[in-house]
Amino acid sequence: MQTLIKSVDEQSVESAKKILLDGGVIGMPTETVYGLAGVGTMPEAVKKIFEIKGRPSDNPLIAHVHKHYDLDKLVLVKHDYVYKLIEKFTPGPLTLVFESKRVVCDEATCGGDTLAVRIPSHQGCQQLLQAVDMPVVAPSANLSKHTSPVTAEHVYNDLNGKIPLILDGGKCTGGIESTVLDVTGEIPRILRAGLVTKEMIEEVVGKCLIAEHKEGDRVKSPGVKYKHYRPNCKTALFEEKELDLVKKAYQEEIDCGGKPFVMCADHVGEKLKGVNLLLLGDTPEKIASNLYDKLLEGERKATLIIAVAMPDEKGVNMGIMNRLRKSCG
Ligand code: AMP
Ligand code: MG
Repeated sequence: MQTLIKSVDEQSVESAKKILLDGGVIGMPTETVYGLAGVGTMPEAVKKIFEIKGRPSDNPLIAHVHKHYDLDKLVLVKHDYVYKLIEKFTPGPLTLVFESKRVVCDEATCGGDTLAVRIPSHQGCQQLLQAVDMPVVAPSANLSKHTSPVTAEHVYNDLNGKIPLILDGGKCTGGIESTVLDVTGEIPRILRAGLVTKEMIEEVVGKCLIAEHKEGDRVKSPGVKYKHYRPNCKTALFEEKELDLVKKAYQEEIDCGGKPFVMCADHVGEKLKGVNLLLLGDTPEKIASNLYDKLLEGERKATLIIAVAMPDEKGVNMGIMNRLRKSCG
């Protein structure tokens, strides 16, 4: 199969819509990462998504809908605080987990009672979702375990020959996957950290919990238990206060004939003179938006990526560290 990359416009959205309504699967831009999209009410389309990615069959998919879509068709909204969250954070990088009305097929929810729903803010994505006017399920458009794609080219590199079309909506501005928030209980609970932070949610609804994943627990959000986001080269992760270890690992890799790169915030890079760098930027938002792009640049250039951790786990840093540990830890 030939894989075409087309910029988002009326014509390409029309082609994408046709493929989706015929039960096909395409690459779709969003503001977080690129998605591998299929119509969520079509079991055959959903099966294709799992097959193409090699995704574990117990890891459910997020349903994406446009901003005028009636959520009541898909899910039961049990608590009033949810409306405040929808008002404040959607469209945007917040996924809400509701009790499902099972309109989206069991293949997508892995037979569970709940459905994760997101309303993306990316304009091209909205255009497509409005044209299709159905829930579109989409995990990240990479092979399972590999780093998530933030450009159409990244999608092409992983899925060339496996899908007919990638809609090119430019580089994703968010850069890490959405925050996943369970809103089935009295108090919302973060299942996966992202750009909408615990602090931001608490400002709107007062209290927000963070799900703890303990050994032996029934996993509430299966995706968080898997290895993820791995670039195709060796990786290491150090704290900022361990720069002597960073330099040691760097030198050892050179001594073995390798080509190491240090991936870090700009201010850390300033302390590492004469070293190959993958600079992430200097604010948490900037660092999140560059993270996967730099990991994918790193796997092309480096034999070893040495990542330097964020100074804390506050705000957006929580989501960044969650990705860094899985990709480089
Ligand atoms: P991905 O699309 O690869 O970014 O992953 C989607 C994330 O949302 C994974 O961590 C899933 O486990 C999680 N997720 C999707 N649906 C549900 C659901 N119904 N309940 C809890 N977590 C979900
Ligand atoms: Mg993913």
